[in-house]
Amino acid sequence: MSDHLKLELKKAANKLAQGSLTVLSGAGISVASGIRPFRGKGGLWEKYDPEVVVNIDNFHRSPGDSWKMLREIVEVIAEANPNPAHLAVNVLERMGIVRSIITQNVDGLHQKAGSSNVIEFHGSTSRVICLDCSAIFPIAEVDLELIPPPCFNCGGLLKPDAVFFGEAIPPAALLRAHVESQQCDSMLVIGTSGMVEPAASLPAMARNSGALIVEVNPEPSWLTTTSVDIFLQGNAEEIMPLLLAEIKKTAEQ
Ligand SMILES: [Zn+2]
Repeated sequence: MSDHLKLELKKAANKLAQGSLTVLSGAGISVASGIRPFRGKGGLWEKYDPEVVVNIDNFHRSPGDSWKMLREIVEVIAEANPNPAHLAVNVLERMGIVRSIITQNVDGLHQKAGSSNVIEFHGSTSRVICLDCSAIFPIAEVDLELIPPPCFNCGGLLKPDAVFFGEAIPPAALLRAHVESQQCDSMLVIGTSGMVEPAASLPAMARNSGALIVEVNPEPSWLTTTSVDIFLQGNAEEIMPLLLAEIKKTAEQ
């Protein structure tokens, strides 16, 4: 570890240990769990174009074709496990330091790691929603041999309960995210470059309300120069356990 990183970890830990911390996570936190970001290399997204597969108009036009591809995606996500970054966030939540987790991911890995106060900006593929009667079921209960799978309630069309291209962010999630960003004392941005709205505006919103912003990313991002106070360079699954250890040290003092 470089002396610079060591120093920055200490600086971040001193502040974050004080609590009232909101985490904002993106695709980068789940890469080590085998879930590739939309734009990254490798995995499913080289085979499928997300803007085509995860597009609400295409889904309505031909749900059967969409589900054939979605099934593959949903199964990869269902088999994924949380990595040390998700686990570190959960420990911080149990220590009473993390107050909320805003995630752009649909993989449900924060919850699998044990976290409870998770705001899902883009929904989750761990559930399906019926487009006819609005009933929601766990994906595990759905027979994916039947394509498209019918609703248990009304026989209607089921869709993964994730936000597709062409759909709006759930208003309740958006509202909660705004409140958390304005009320937290610090925000920890993990694995998101903050280029895509509405998540992009949250760190600035938190900062304008007086919060300290810490960023964990492999490379500096747009956020680093616009709204970040402390930048911790590295992969989430490597940096987060280091940060957790440092916060534990600080909290014991
Ligand atoms: Zn239904």
